[in-house]
Amino acid sequence: MNLHEYQAKRTFAKYGVPIPDGDVAYTANEARENAKKLGGKVVVKAQVHIGGRGKAGGVKLANTPEEAAEAAAKILGMDIKGFTVNKVLIDEQSAIDKEIYLAVLIDRAARRSMIMASAAGGMDIEAVAKETPEKIIKVHVDPALGVKGYQSTYIASRMGLPREQWKQFHNIVTNLYASFVNSDASLAEVNPLIVTDDGMLMAVDGKMSIDDNALYRQPELEAMRDLSEEPEAEKQARAAGINFIQLDGNIGCMVNGAGLAMTTMDVVNLFGGSPANFLDIGGGAKAESVATALKLILSDPKVKAVLINIFGGITRGDEVAQGIVDALAMVDTDIPMVVRLAGTNAKEGLAILADAEMETAVTLSDAAQKAVAIAGGAA
Ligand code: GDP
Ligand code: MN
Repeated sequence: MNLHEYQAKRTFAKYGVPIPDGDVAYTANEARENAKKLGGKVVVKAQVHIGGRGKAGGVKLANTPEEAAEAAAKILGMDIKGFTVNKVLIDEQSAIDKEIYLAVLIDRAARRSMIMASAAGGMDIEAVAKETPEKIIKVHVDPALGVKGYQSTYIASRMGLPREQWKQFHNIVTNLYASFVNSDASLAEVNPLIVTDDGMLMAVDGKMSIDDNALYRQPELEAMRDLSEEPEAEKQARAAGINFIQLDGNIGCMVNGAGLAMTTMDVVNLFGGSPANFLDIGGGAKAESVATALKLILSDPKVKAVLINIFGGITRGDEVAQGIVDALAMVDTDIPMVVRLAGTNAKEGLAILADAEMETAVTLSDAAQKAVAIAGGAA
């Protein structure tokens, strides 16, 4: 689950990371009032779950409450990469001398959390990583020790921060790390962490992703979920208890079991195709849940073919086949589908599907190749 900038920054602040004063506004009038309280010189920032708002015109400086109202009027309702802006953050304006990138994230390969920093902050960090990787500094944190002084000193000196700022920097890294660990986050990012004209460090932007599987013990963070920012299909999936993640490809995948679903996606890729989603319908295959899953997959206009891969175990193949046939009666679509069915009662299941004139396959590679051919190669 992703947090908005204002939520992320307030979470960081709870752990002692300095942030500018500010508040959220839903209308231009509220923006004017907020700006008055802050003394007039503010920055008006679109609150949407997507980066690069600055470049898209979603971050504007205002020098009077009136200008803040005008900027808010322009930004509210704006579309930024598919996200509609319905609230803005009004923050006190900062006088920026330097922009630093600082993040805590999980390095899965190293099985550790990692601090990533760069003096080339503010801009697109992916571009920095690609073009000038030597400007990115990485340090792993031992979970039993936390962030040690020598680590933050190493980062600060490599970034060329003057010695007077090392203590501030160390406190910010330590506090950001504490917010990351205690929030069960997978990412806590500050870009930019600024150095002001008078040498103070402050988090001007914030991004935080919380591990969905930990939300049960993070009620305060769970309450920050902004449903308006989530893809409609993912919301419906959560309500139906289906594991569903939308992707960029054109082959819809419906699979029972998370491991098998990942394998299916790999095999689709292997044959030059590109999966449109990850979907695990879980155990059992009642017509209702199959129909819900199909509707979710087909709600994506990019989908050109659907690959159904079912391994019958405790759930019998003929039950699943009947579930699919019944589900198709509930879903109105002409998107071609390929069903691969194996395991318990696969023969009976395949007979039911053949009766319903569905395209079937016995092996996963056969099914994947058929689906890729129908979809016309990779998206
Ligand atoms: P993003 O584009 O979505 O990453 O949004 P940011 O919050 O990072 O803002 C983009 C850029 O706007 C920053 O890199 C800064 O250069 C600038 N900016 C943001 N807040 C302020 C501010 O208070 N004062 C000044 N002068 N610039 C700001
Ligand atoms: Mn930013």
